[in-house]
Amino acid sequence: MSTRQSLNALRDRLRPSDRMPVVFVGHGSPMNALEDTEYSRGWTALGRALPRPQAILVVSAHWMTRGTTLVDVSAMPRTIHDFYGFPEALYAENYPAPGDPALAREVVSLLASHHAEEDDTWGLDHGAWTVLKFLYPEADVPVFQVSIDMSRGLDYQLEIGRSLASLRDRGVLIIGSGNVVHNLRTVQFGGRPQDFAIEFDKMFADRLQDRDLAALADGKAMGSLLRMAHPSVDHYLPALTIAGASDARDTLTFTNDAIDLGSISMRSFLFHA
Ligand code: ZN
Repeated sequence: MSTRQSLNALRDRLRPSDRMPVVFVGHGSPMNALEDTEYSRGWTALGRALPRPQAILVVSAHWMTRGTTLVDVSAMPRTIHDFYGFPEALYAENYPAPGDPALAREVVSLLASHHAEEDDTWGLDHGAWTVLKFLYPEADVPVFQVSIDMSRGLDYQLEIGRSLASLRDRGVLIIGSGNVVHNLRTVQFGGRPQDFAIEFDKMFADRLQDRDLAALADGKAMGSLLRMAHPSVDHYLPALTIAGASDARDTLTFTNDAIDLGSISMRSFLFHA
């Protein structure tokens, strides 16, 4: 089934449920925010298929902390243009959704054992807003980010996902935004998918399908393949958060499995009722 067909069918596949899905989005280039691409079209279709949440919690690859998990408690998160050398129009983009300070503070409590702390300086980085712009174009659903702690092992992010999972029963949509393969050193414009990118991407998809989540967090076993796919794991960690927030009752649906620029996997997926 092509991506487009599966996206059109997604709306029918999502059964009415009191439990929100959890979503991982491969975000890729910030330019997707301006351009009509297969990715931005896919996010629009995904937004139409998803139930309307009470609030959105985003774990983005671009908010990296060390030793703490920060939670943005600001009332109006600012739009962060955290990139360089892009067209002026991209810096003029604004995603004016409100925050949810009360819920964000609850999340700090929920993640107390993960050194969570309040923050009111971050906002929405491009991992969040370039995607949210298409998912919820009205910017009328409260949204806040949670950082990734780069000083911990991969399994730490699975645990964070598990700790956040109860929010699904309260109408909160948890979104992870990163890339399943993200090696900027090997990108080639117009390049065909590289072998290591195909191999890691397939391994990830197979293990996710098998619910072998421990294997996805076993950096030692993945060895050099992981280091090729992720010279730094920042774009991988949000995928583990989302895997951690899923459980065996969920159905896994992939909404996209493209590999862009040779070594950026745009693979996106959701776990849903
Ligand atoms: Zn990124």
